[in-house]
Amino acid sequence: MLQDSTSQINAPRLELAVRQAQAAATLERLPTTLTVNALVSVSALLMSAINRGITTLAVVWCIAALATVVWRFAVGTAIKRRRLDELKPNHCLRLMTLGALVSGIAWAALPFMLSNFDALGVDGGIYILMCGMATGAVLLGTGHAITALAFALPVHLSVVVTLLMSEAAGGHLLALNVLALTFVLYKSSTKGQAIVIGNIEAQVKATALAQSLSRANASILSANESLEVLANRDPLTGVANRAAFNVALERGIENAGAQNEQLALLILDLDRFKTINDTFGHSAGDELLLEACHRLREVVGERGFIARLGGDEFAVVIGGATAAAEARQLASRILDRGREPFVIRNRPVVSGVSIGFAIWPEHAESAADLFVSADMALYRAKDEGRGQWREFDPSLKARADRQRRIEQDLAGAISSGALTVVFQPQVELAQNSVIGFETLVRWTHPSLGAVPPPEIVAAAHAANLSEALTASIATGACRLLTTLPSLGLPEASVSVNVSPREFELYSVAETLDRITHAHGIDPALFEIEITEEAILDTLVAGEQLKHIERSGYKLAVDDFGAGHSSLAYLVTLKVDRLKLDRRFVAGIESSFQNQEIVGAMAGLGKALSMDIVAEGVETAEEAATLRDLGCPAAQGYFLGRPMPVEAIAGWLLTRLLTPAA
Ligand code: C2E
Ligand code: CA
Ligand code: CA
Repeated sequence: MLQDSTSQINAPRLELAVRQAQAAATLERLPTTLTVNALVSVSALLMSAINRGITTLAVVWCIAALATVVWRFAVGTAIKRRRLDELKPNHCLRLMTLGALVSGIAWAALPFMLSNFDALGVDGGIYILMCGMATGAVLLGTGHAITALAFALPVHLSVVVTLLMSEAAGGHLLALNVLALTFVLYKSSTKGQAIVIGNIEAQVKATALAQSLSRANASILSANESLEVLANRDPLTGVANRAAFNVALERGIENAGAQNEQLALLILDLDRFKTINDTFGHSAGDELLLEACHRLREVVGERGFIARLGGDEFAVVIGGATAAAEARQLASRILDRGREPFVIRNRPVVSGVSIGFAIWPEHAESAADLFVSADMALYRAKDEGRGQWREFDPSLKARADRQRRIEQDLAGAISSGALTVVFQPQVELAQNSVIGFETLVRWTHPSLGAVPPPEIVAAAHAANLSEALTASIATGACRLLTTLPSLGLPEASVSVNVSPREFELYSVAETLDRITHAHGIDPALFEIEITEEAILDTLVAGEQLKHIERSGYKLAVDDFGAGHSSLAYLVTLKVDRLKLDRRFVAGIESSFQNQEIVGAMAGLGKALSMDIVAEGVETAEEAATLRDLGCPAAQGYFLGRPMPVEAIAGWLLTRLLTPAA
């Protein structure tokens, strides 16, 4: 880079720089030259007057010499005003040389203006003045030889010529000496010029080098700056990225500690971002993020530090004595802005925001802990239905600790067999016959006690163990299926629950194919229970459900009526069974509305040739009412509690012995 810049001073540029320096130097010396010139002209006049009295010619000469001086001064001033020394240095030098030449000729004329010029007699002083002037011009004019010589040479020539013309003895000898002096002057003037030019060139090169160094320095600085921007900014939104956020959070806590203040950390998550991204494409997702970030900047203003942590997650850090109170207000305002529809691809899209926040030092000691605490609060906000803010509280930590324990210990529980399954019977109401069993997972954690199944399922998802969990439960279901014929129930089915999120993670149908195959199970007796959510959820699930159907498994929709099933889906997916949600069953004998609903669903089941199974039957009255409404089958504590496989034979026997149940 440096070499480039110095080699850029090419010959014409260098020459221009030299000329400019010469012109400037000559111009600068002009006042001195002219002053000396004027003074010496007057003294020459005086000298000649002393020797021979005042003559008209001598006065004319002096006036002419002074006029040249004035003219040269005027030219110099004009040059300076128009900055010709910088802009047209050659032209400037030519003018200066012309001026010097005119002055030189004026001085050269002096001997000829004095009548009977006596070179070696009374007028010897004039010679001394002339030669002195010429020498002075050369000495003063180092740097531009031609200007100096333009003055000196005519003067010397005049001296030599007048000496040769004089008849005085020694005139010729003196002329020879003056010629020698002329030669010396010429030599020293050209030599002086060469030295000056060399100096100027060296100076120009040094300046160029210094400039190029400073340019290089500037470009290194700006490269550094852009590297810093790259390292610290989120390229899409331009706000701080995660790395910069980490640094800001650490510093914020240090500052807050030093000032005895608080620091609030808010973590924000856009609701439905994934769906919008999947439905409208990535660039629409980017548009949403940009607009969300823009709103965030508007709401936060100068009051906080904003960062994008990745994906659809943002963070805001607020310091100060009242950070906690401000964080609460800010969270509400962000929620309000987030609720307003976004316009993506000219279409209104509703997204919403979930926010969790935590305060230092109240909720955490370190930056890392503060982040975890705010994240827990965010998790709670999302868990409780999104579109809201939650502040960290210690119970969240206890909950998160518990979740972590469960996640950590789950793999061991699956492989060691600590995780077991129980089976809840399903009964045909009219005949009171057992038509199937639902497989339900059970785990008694050594220190936490019985872990509720939804928690097990969530932990499996978080720990990437969903497939292992379902495989182990399906294996239990297959074992029961192999023993049912010996219990007198060769046609009873066994169902397993599959959570909607599992379909995104692995091929449920392939895993089940492998397991049922290994146990020689007829897929028609193996039932999969999914919630309505899974039906509506993703296209992936749609593909998988078709695979399940192709493999010949039965498909049941769990908790039917709790969500938003679409009849169209139910038909196209060939659902075999609808499991009526518990809420329609509880106290049905005295709820006219529930009776209507269950009656209608029983009719729907018949029309679509789907089985209907009512869930959560806890009393004889409920069972009787369901039967009277035409609901064919049911499941519940009243009909049979979930039980381990070993208990089934005994339970069946008891039923036979007490038919009233
Ligand atoms: P679910 O699929 O609706 O399962 C029925 C739940 O209701 C079971 O709770 C069962 O014990 C309970 N139950 C049965 N009869 C009655 C009754 O008469 N009254 C009342 N109040 N409850 C009754 P459990 O086993 O705690 O399971 C809860 C939920 O956890 C299940 O709801 C299911 O969504 C999920 N789950 C259970 N086991 C598994 C599993 O192996 N895999 C998956 N993915 N989810 C499971
Ligand atoms: Ca179920
Ligand atoms: Ca259910």
